[in-house]
Amino acid sequence: MPAPRVYAREEHPISRRQISPNALRVLYRLRDAGHSACLVGGAVRDLLIGLEPKDFDVATDATPEQVRQLFRNCRLIGRRFRLAHVMFGREIIEVATFRAGGEDDSETSHTDDEGRILRDNVYGTIEQDAVRRDFTANALYYAIEDFSVRDFVGGFADTQARVLRLIGDPELRYREDPVRMLRAVRLAAKLDFTIEPATAAPIPELAVLLESASNARLFDECGKLFMAGHAEASFLGLERHGLLAVLFPELARALRRDNSGGCRRLIIEALRSTDARVREEQPVTFAFLLAAMLWPAYADGVHALLGQGHPMTVAEQRSADRVVVHQCKRVAIPRRVSLVIEELWFLQSRLATRQRRRVMRILAHPRFRAAYDFLLLRAAAAPELQPEVAFWTAMQADGSAREAALEDAHRETAEEAEPGRNRRRRRRRKPKAQSES
Ligand code: ATP
Ligand code: MG
Repeated sequence: MPAPRVYAREEHPISRRQISPNALRVLYRLRDAGHSACLVGGAVRDLLIGLEPKDFDVATDATPEQVRQLFRNCRLIGRRFRLAHVMFGREIIEVATFRAGGEDDSETSHTDDEGRILRDNVYGTIEQDAVRRDFTANALYYAIEDFSVRDFVGGFADTQARVLRLIGDPELRYREDPVRMLRAVRLAAKLDFTIEPATAAPIPELAVLLESASNARLFDECGKLFMAGHAEASFLGLERHGLLAVLFPELARALRRDNSGGCRRLIIEALRSTDARVREEQPVTFAFLLAAMLWPAYADGVHALLGQGHPMTVAEQRSADRVVVHQCKRVAIPRRVSLVIEELWFLQSRLATRQRRRVMRILAHPRFRAAYDFLLLRAAAAPELQPEVAFWTAMQADGSAREAALEDAHRETAEEAEPGRNRRRRRRRKPKAQSES
């Protein structure tokens, strides 16, 4: 480890004007009560590279109880390790006591057979607090007493070089907490950093350790990977480092069998449009993106079940159940999310109807707009869906355009229904597997 370094106020760009006034209040009050208090983690890192921090975390030598004495608007949370939350309306400043933990402290840290940390609830010094963090860029401290940045692990230089480097032995650190592999990919995508070679090297081999991580925690982590404006970069990072197959086994399989490239186009299109919407501050739902990521597996399932002679609704429900249950073993999709995913999927086959009454009912469906967007996504990957897109686009236009499109559709259907004239079976209700298109 490099010797600790202190970057004085004039050696770094962080100004108090960029720090949330509430975080400053917390820091000053702790300092005035005689404690040491620092801004730490993502906020310091983000400020150093000119990003606006999402939230401000504080680290201090005061115990949670002492913090509570100082702030009336304070709640203590966490059982394994107590943290103080100081509340200012909707803003919460998290205040954590310096703690030890990790491989440096074998007396106090307990790990299981695979090296995972079981308990790390021991207070420590600021140096110990630094080395138990994940990446050097995340272990910088902005001290309120002299406005300096304190660096115990070389994070200042790494941040300037835009490098993500695990503190300590990478393999050991991943075994302690496999989610750090996802954090590496996520932060590299978010910050546009490169993962330092020794930090990246063990990931493909250790990726399977994520199978035993909590699937609820993995869902949270996926939200941060895909809903924060860098979904495409996250996805490519997961793929490159061999993590995609652990998180989304069926998607990885569909991509392997994707000879036409349709499946890949669908996913990339979904990721890009999610990123674009985040950039434009339009609402995004994780359900929509997950529906796209799991669509190839769902559509293949429906196709197979129809082939076995099941009716459409049965095939759809069974395939959806199977894909969702299977996916939940890795990433726990909450019921409220999977319900939306299924609605989006089931609406896709219903979009094949041209019957006036059914068309009107679909247009009035609360999820129609999302289902239409989903159809656009599928069409970007499968051009044969263009007529369907044109029809539903016309349905949302003014009265005469809508009537004309309905008339056209009826004429076509009538011709097809006329016996002897055109015996082509209409199989449009069958969702086409993207991986085959
Ligand atoms: P973001 O900007 O996305 O919030 P972050 O680095 O702030 O990124 P958080 O999850 O908010 O990420 O974590 C805050 C800090 O806690 C990190 O900067 C890091 O120092 C430490 N930390 C978080 N997760 C881990 C982990 N799994 N192992 C070690 N340290 C961690
Ligand atoms: Mg954070």
